[in-house]
Amino acid sequence: MKPMPFKNRPNIGADLLLAEKLIQLGARPPIVSQLCHLTRKQSIAFFKTVQGQAPKQGMLPHDHQWAIRSAFNNIHASLFLSMIEDIRHRLSTPNLDATLLVAAYEIYSNVASRILADWQYIQSRSSQHYPLDINRAWYLISLLSAGDLVFMICGRCRARYLGMIHPDAAFSQCPICDVWTDRSGRRRWISTKSKMLTLNKPSAR
Ligand SMILES: [Zn+2]
Repeated sequence: MKPMPFKNRPNIGADLLLAEKLIQLGARPPIVSQLCHLTRKQSIAFFKTVQGQAPKQGMLPHDHQWAIRSAFNNIHASLFLSMIEDIRHRLSTPNLDATLLVAAYEIYSNVASRILADWQYIQSRSSQHYPLDINRAWYLISLLSAGDLVFMICGRCRARYLGMIHPDAAFSQCPICDVWTDRSGRRRWISTKSKMLTLNKPSAR
């Protein structure tokens, strides 16, 4: 491994360990840079070392309606953001850092792998097969922090799920109760009437 020019910082070792963990979980260089205090160039070089290949090019996930596009997405987004909220609450910390993201994503992937294995969607535990990858997970955290995504409690099954309050789309349906299963076995929202605007409208973001 070619030595990289890091600034003289006392916690560089901890940052690098977290960067390695994030990259193993699928995080792309912009997120690694942001969370682990590395330059973009350092993150790309580190990514290549850890993954043995160059990172994917292009924009990070930025679909602000992803969590409400389907009940399946909603279950996974609700599961992950619940982990974040519960850990923050237990630790009494408002801070979002790499350690918290890694911990919440690892718990999410363990639970998701069991759910998905039950549904026979995946055979392996590779994070690439999870519907919610860590890069989108990071974006969802920003939507929750901004108040675009909000937690609701279903009055029937008591599940905690995500609704959306956004100028482009307001949406609140329980991904367990407000669904029906089509012939292919896909769970679909029972009604689209509560959406203020169509979810298929192309996003400008
Ligand atoms: Zn419900």
